[in-house]
Amino acid sequence: MKLMREKVLEKTGFKGPVFYREPMSRHTSYKIGGPARIFCLPQDVEDLKKALIFSHEEGIPYYIIGNGTNLLVSDEGFEGMVIKISGVFNGFQFSGEKVIAGAGTDLCHLINQAGKQGLFGWPFAVGIPGTVAGAVVMNAGSSTLHMGQHVQKVWALDCKSLEFVEMRNDDLQFQYRKSILDSGKWVVLEVELLLQREDPDKIFLRIEDLLQRRRKVQPLNYPSAGSVFRNPDNAFAGKLIEDAGCKGWTQGGAMVSPVHANFIVNFNHARAIDVGTLMARVRKEVEEKFGISLEPELKIIGNWPEELEEFLRPYKG
Ligand SMILES: Cc1cc2nc3c(=O)[nH]c(=O)nc-3n(C[C@H](O)[C@H](O)[C@H](O)COP(=O)(O)OP(=O)(O)OC[C@H]3O[C@@H](n4cnc5c(N)ncnc54)[C@H](O)[C@@H]3O)c2cc1C
Repeated sequence: MKLMREKVLEKTGFKGPVFYREPMSRHTSYKIGGPARIFCLPQDVEDLKKALIFSHEEGIPYYIIGNGTNLLVSDEGFEGMVIKISGVFNGFQFSGEKVIAGAGTDLCHLINQAGKQGLFGWPFAVGIPGTVAGAVVMNAGSSTLHMGQHVQKVWALDCKSLEFVEMRNDDLQFQYRKSILDSGKWVVLEVELLLQREDPDKIFLRIEDLLQRRRKVQPLNYPSAGSVFRNPDNAFAGKLIEDAGCKGWTQGGAMVSPVHANFIVNFNHARAIDVGTLMARVRKEVEEKFGISLEPELKIIGNWPEELEEFLRPYKG
């Protein structure tokens, strides 16, 4: 009966692929996560509107994802509709030292294409595996440089009114790994970003150098979602975790990476509960040793066992 009601999404005229009980492990860089009740890939703005209207009318919660590289989805999965904005909404156009890029554009692809035009300017973003929208919403970057410094404008769809909105940098309230856009109220559709003109040959040497540096300091041979915890004020989460002696700790198939202590990697078919439990253990150890309470940087989705729910609830999407 439930399934029949859900099949109505196709009956709204939604053109893109729709999957039911789709394992989120297929759509996260962690390769972890139980099923999404509905998983859909809108092909255009009309499709996106149909999915949102369906979600409102059926009372089904929705969650927008890009490349799923900053997500931890529970083993139980998400009792709602996951709307993936990646693979479509991915055109881009350069104009002078600006680019207008679709939300689903792969960030690394855009950096390479910009390089060919003799445009660069986001060294911190080289190697970040997300979409343009994911990077803007999360204000992705390093400890000092971030995407928000380069955003001019964002065009988005208001998820409630389904009206288009144009937001300027000042409206977006960029902070460390945060923006007003991560409230779930809007779907980012397009972004205008500033670049800098540089010699293309130098750009590609720089890109290769930055990628090599990442390979040295990040455990890229195992699935992960990047840094697990936010850096607290005036400190580095990775350094605190290392100094607390947590490097190499394991829980099921999850491990605090011996390469970079703020990465918890999926080294052997880890479940979400393994990652969540390890996060809670690390957080407790750092708190006991240094009196600092680490906060997750990852976006957390789905229902969790009671012992983790209290810790993870404030960070849930
Ligand atoms: C190996 C590795 C290295 C990484 N290195 C870095 C790093 O150096 N710096 C850094 O900051 N991060 C890093 N990350 C984390 C991650 O790649 C970034 O946060 C990235 O910007 C997330 O983009 P995404 O498209 O995967 O977003 P997702 O993980 O899919 O989503 C992230 C958030 O953005 C929202 N979102 C996505 N698309 C839209 C949209 N169109 N409209 C509205 N909301 C949207 C989602 O709802 C969610 O809240 C790393 C991850 C990995 C796996």
